[in-house]
Amino acid sequence: MSRLATPGEVLQLIRSGEAVTRADIGRVTGLSRPAVAHRVADLLQRGLIVEDAEGPSTGGRPPVRLRFATSGGVVPVASLGARRTQIALCDLAGEVLQRTDLDIDVEEGPGVVLPLLMDTWEKLLDGRNDVVGIGLGVPATVEFAAGRVESARVMASWTGVVIPPIIAERFRVPVLVDNDVNVIAMGEHRVVYASELDDLLFVKVSTRIGAGVISGGGILRGALGAAGEIGHIPVRDGGGVLCRCGNLDCVDSVASGTAILRDLRAKGRDVMSLSDVTALVRAGDAETMAVVRQAGRWLGEVISGAVNLLNPAVVVLGGDVAEMFQPLVSGVREVVYRRSTQLATRSLRIERSRLGPGAGITGCALMVLDHVLSAQAVDAASR
Ligand SMILES: [Zn+2]
Repeated sequence: MSRLATPGEVLQLIRSGEAVTRADIGRVTGLSRPAVAHRVADLLQRGLIVEDAEGPSTGGRPPVRLRFATSGGVVPVASLGARRTQIALCDLAGEVLQRTDLDIDVEEGPGVVLPLLMDTWEKLLDGRNDVVGIGLGVPATVEFAAGRVESARVMASWTGVVIPPIIAERFRVPVLVDNDVNVIAMGEHRVVYASELDDLLFVKVSTRIGAGVISGGGILRGALGAAGEIGHIPVRDGGGVLCRCGNLDCVDSVASGTAILRDLRAKGRDVMSLSDVTALVRAGDAETMAVVRQAGRWLGEVISGAVNLLNPAVVVLGGDVAEMFQPLVSGVREVVYRRSTQLATRSLRIERSRLGPGAGITGCALMVLDHVLSAQAVDAASR
């Protein structure tokens, strides 16, 4: 570091495990011993780090290890789905402390849903007053800096709503809101892949199709937060299906969970919900497998374009459809490896989500923690 490291930067070193003793910090930052002592004392006094007494007992006095104080605060989070919302409290490492799921129809609108969320957080908090920030993932395009819901895929009554001030009125802390798939992509990347790769494409296939892009280790949002909206890229030979956006053969209209159900019903199959489809796939029903595999091929067509553009190290398929359907994933693989450039696919992995349904919660907490524990925020708070 060419200039003197700040307390906030020292905290980052301790949090990441890069430097966990005073001597380490001195070595990494080039700070003098008194300067290190001063910054560590500041972080200890603010409760951001703790000293660990235990060290290797190999004779001599072991150096005192410093550890980030993960229990020094709490982050209420919510991952909103169309019908079901996951609500949780997380610690400062992003680990879930308490969780509860609510069946809420987001179409009830922000006037109903947001107060319900806040009441639930308060119940879970049970008098705790060490909230450091709040995070939400919503099934809509979000102008991230403002927390404004731009165009809503399933929640039209939310369009134009700026969420953070509504929540900050009751909880006076930073409130961060992002698109649900971005949040899931962040969670999956950080927990499963962060140590090995920086470029990941997360595709969520559920009733709708959306994607989140991690590029160079960070989420790619685009100019207004609409990056990753791959659902409305058209496919070839989709058969002329009119999408709800007004265009023909968007991948969302031919390969989403909704489309798979519609195609099976058109073949006279008695399927009420996606779990019926899952059961048929598990039973090895040939007609269902063929429909799902074709959906996978269409999805693969759009993903191969994204792979050529972004060159991710891994494509992760998540959402309740992708997690359950082996034939869908096979269809995707078949087309992506055929269509994408050789260089982009040379070491490309295509995998299922490993974090599963909890990824949204974890991603929300990490989004908040990256913000409130950034070196800048920590230094600003000490002034
Ligand atoms: Zn469309």
